[in-house]
Amino acid sequence: MKSMKKLNIILFFLWCILLINLVKVNASPLTSCLSSIKGQTVYPNNKTFPSLILDENLYVNYTPSVLIYAANNQDVQTSINCATKLKMDITARSGGHSYEKYGLGGRNNVMVVDLTNINEITIDSKAKTAKIGAGNRLGVIYDKLSQAGFLIPAGTCPSVGIGGHALGGGYGFAGRKYGFAADNIISMEMVDANGKLLQVDKQTNADLFFALRGAGGGSFGIVTSFVFKLHEVPPQVTSMQFQFRRSQVQQLFTAYNEVGPTLDNNIVLSVSLDKDSLSIDGLYLGPAKNAKDAMKPFLSRAPKPTSSNFKQETFFDSVVTFSYVPPNDVVKPKHHPYFFKAKSFFVNKGLTSEAIDTLSNFLSTVSCSTYALFDLLGGTANIVDDTSSFMHRDSIYGIQLVGSDWKNKAQGDKCVKELNDFGKNFQSKFTSYFSYQNYIDRDLDDWQTRYYGQNFNKLVDIKTKYDPNNLFKFPQSIPVKG
Ligand SMILES: Cc1cc2nc3c(=O)[nH]c(=O)nc-3n(C[C@H](O)[C@H](O)[C@H](O)COP(=O)(O)OP(=O)(O)OC[C@H]3O[C@@H](n4cnc5c(N)ncnc54)[C@H](O)[C@@H]3O)c2cc1C
Repeated sequence: MKSMKKLNIILFFLWCILLINLVKVNASPLTSCLSSIKGQTVYPNNKTFPSLILDENLYVNYTPSVLIYAANNQDVQTSINCATKLKMDITARSGGHSYEKYGLGGRNNVMVVDLTNINEITIDSKAKTAKIGAGNRLGVIYDKLSQAGFLIPAGTCPSVGIGGHALGGGYGFAGRKYGFAADNIISMEMVDANGKLLQVDKQTNADLFFALRGAGGGSFGIVTSFVFKLHEVPPQVTSMQFQFRRSQVQQLFTAYNEVGPTLDNNIVLSVSLDKDSLSIDGLYLGPAKNAKDAMKPFLSRAPKPTSSNFKQETFFDSVVTFSYVPPNDVVKPKHHPYFFKAKSFFVNKGLTSEAIDTLSNFLSTVSCSTYALFDLLGGTANIVDDTSSFMHRDSIYGIQLVGSDWKNKAQGDKCVKELNDFGKNFQSKFTSYFSYQNYIDRDLDDWQTRYYGQNFNKLVDIKTKYDPNNLFKFPQSIPVKG
């Protein structure tokens, strides 16, 4: 009896060894190369895979070869080494909000390193800095930092990832006081094309520090964490909302052009225009009484709003107000995938009345639901910083034109063509030459200059130094020389 039991145990172990070897024999070079990954790897045959590649924009779709949910820097290094060894394409995804799905590589069969689980946030209140893992979403960052009495300037959508956002700029309601998110990066850790973890700051790899702060999304390596400079949250802020009659658009823009740029830096405004409505959302970084005083120069020049609201609240509550999602979705952000196409323009002289008429006419005739946002710039956002490749520093506002909500592909294609044609014409006649790289647009001509201006050639040199074999590439990445 005893010897039978012993034999069974031996047979069981032999069976296990055979099984392990069978699996090894059957494993693809990719699965065996990634076998030491501590995080999760998800392949296209997994039934959860389709839901994990939806991301934010449903208009563009790509299927990666594998999703690697990196648990730490080592996983990112292993992934990069495997991509090189197996001659595979690789890309980083933080929040999956790239307008062109470049977080999936902008093409099929790319190895995607998802940073969601690299999400530590360590606050040093004394030094007023925070180390923030690249996989964090903005809503979580606002929540954690504001609990400690701090903020970083960044965008309004809570599910946007800090990774792609800060590397391409990052603008929101604290931007005129504190600049773009990228301006507030003190240092980064980045895994390069050799799988080496680099420290990147003003002194160490200073050329890469320049490149990553403005052009870092996807082109140079995978950033795993940032150290940000923090700013104290004011005890109260004031969120502001104004509605105007649609017919008053010309008058409103006369005021916006003339007074907007001179407004107190505690204010950021965003005008919203569609075929039927005209409104402004805004934030003042201080109490309501001061907000009303600070807004007087603008409101005395603008047409009388049909409704106006100054709401004094905490900074975090203002984040919830302008996220337009329930509070729980701010602290636990989730995707809201939809079909959209966006065009971006920077304006440095103020739109003329002809430009406003042209835009208004387009908004009334375009074949899908379309609106335009005009985000007031200036203040700290316009300070030229030669340690940063972000070059859009002389604009009074940025325009984003967004078409969405089409019912089928044919209507979508038609609308996208209308937006592209209109955008090209409008930009050549009425705005500056430049566009915002965070609103990345595959159909934009001469994007190299429109996104990076005079810095483009320098960026190509830095790319060639750090990634000479062009491992990190996508349809609008910084290319290597030659
Ligand atoms: C609904 C919505 C609202 C938005 N609101 C704002 C706003 O208020 N203000 C504003 O400025 N922008 C805004 N954006 C634009 C947003 O900043 C960009 O789309 C940004 O690139 C998204 O970053 P992500 O990490 O979420 O996207 P991803 O798709 O994950 O990445 C975008 C790009 O960056 C690269 N990348 C991502 N992480 C890393 C990393 N760790 N290291 C290296 N490269 C990386 C990717 O490869 C990809 O090329 C908004 C976008 C959406 C969809």
